[in-house]
Amino acid sequence: MYNAVICRYHEIAIKGNNRREFERQLIGNMRYLLHQGGLDSKVRHIRGRIWVEKACPEEDFSAGELNLHREVLRRVFGLESFSPAKLVKPEMDSITRAVRAFAPEIFAPHLKDGNRAVFRIRARRSNKDFPLRSKEIEILLAGVMEELFGPDRLKIDLENAPITIGVEVRDEFAAVFAESFDAPGGLPAGSSGRVLVLLSGGIDSPVAAYEMMKRGCQTDFLTFHSAPYTPPESVDKVRRLAEILNGYQYPGKLWCCNLAGLQREIRDRCVERDRTVLYRRAMLRIASGIAARTKCGAIVTGEAVGQVASQTLKNMATIDSAVKDLILRPLCGYDKTESIRVAESIGTYRTSIIHAPDSCTVFAPVSPATSLPERAAEREEEKIPDYAGWISRLVDETLAGDGNDGKIPSGDCETRN
Ligand code: ATP
Ligand code: MG
Repeated sequence: MYNAVICRYHEIAIKGNNRREFERQLIGNMRYLLHQGGLDSKVRHIRGRIWVEKACPEEDFSAGELNLHREVLRRVFGLESFSPAKLVKPEMDSITRAVRAFAPEIFAPHLKDGNRAVFRIRARRSNKDFPLRSKEIEILLAGVMEELFGPDRLKIDLENAPITIGVEVRDEFAAVFAESFDAPGGLPAGSSGRVLVLLSGGIDSPVAAYEMMKRGCQTDFLTFHSAPYTPPESVDKVRRLAEILNGYQYPGKLWCCNLAGLQREIRDRCVERDRTVLYRRAMLRIASGIAARTKCGAIVTGEAVGQVASQTLKNMATIDSAVKDLILRPLCGYDKTESIRVAESIGTYRTSIIHAPDSCTVFAPVSPATSLPERAAEREEEKIPDYAGWISRLVDETLAGDGNDGKIPSGDCETRN
């Protein structure tokens, strides 16, 4: 009964001069993700709304196609909400016929057990030649509903009705709809530039990646492993996480770096309790080299203040001071329960909780330093012969991989822009 989906957008509506660029990115992302979802729907942008339409306009979407659209559109950053809709000619007869066609299914659950269905009609008219005004459309359609179900089975509530029938009358068509679904909001992925996410197999860093995508960042990923001290499953798990995250954007690259050699140096030459902070500083330095060569404007981590020893304010400051890059920590104020809630809703949680050792746990100290000053960390690093050479070699080695170890959904598409 529906041949289109009306998509409403979020914050980008207030973006002034940049608006066109944001809309272009949003529509490109929608085309790409719909295509990836196996859908060949048309995407059109008409004054403040985006319309996803059945490629063949005479046909309606099947239930399966509608579900797929829901599944894809709830992953499009920048969209606020969407509604399956029937597009018809902008004339009252066609509008009435469409509302009559879908009303029984919408009202049925509310009329069960002799209940009265509480509803409202919301009409908007941008076609000023249309003979009826919005209020008149609403009154006329409310009459049609009374005719269909009987006046004593219905109640109108303009504030809090569980059923809202929407009508939009435009110049080229009218749309009628009844259900509305939430989309994630935020900004279209890619509209804020590119970032490099330090992606571990934990719960937090995939959530951090998601939060940055939601702010419009195209994200690439960098993971550290310590083969042979960590098993291949540790990287496999991160690959799966990157694939899930790439379901929200044009696929970002996944860079894999083996830190084991440098960790052995740190183990053999530096103070044991400082290892965790030294690993983290090394990770950031390598990330900084990769970010510079791949044009990423910031490094993102899933750190939260106070979560573990390496995440005290003092240690975070010491870790930060290893590089000059902008470091973003979107979860810095999150509780673990908040991270878990987001991880569940974005589909990464179940993968994150599969047990696999992390690079950071290799040669981990029994009692890690919680307050290592910057100068002390530098002194430890000076004990490692050719420390700078280690970092630049690891950057080169990592970039020599194609960045798609974690091969990401295939079939890039021509609708990219
Ligand atoms: P958890 O959910 O267990 O906290 P986590 O990913 O947050 O997982 P932490 O030990 O808290 O793990 O690490 C803090 C941050 O450091 C991570 O969010 C991630 O950004 C980065 N990090 C840690 N280990 C790695 C790794 N092996 N590869 C890449 N980044 C890592
Ligand atoms: Mg964490």
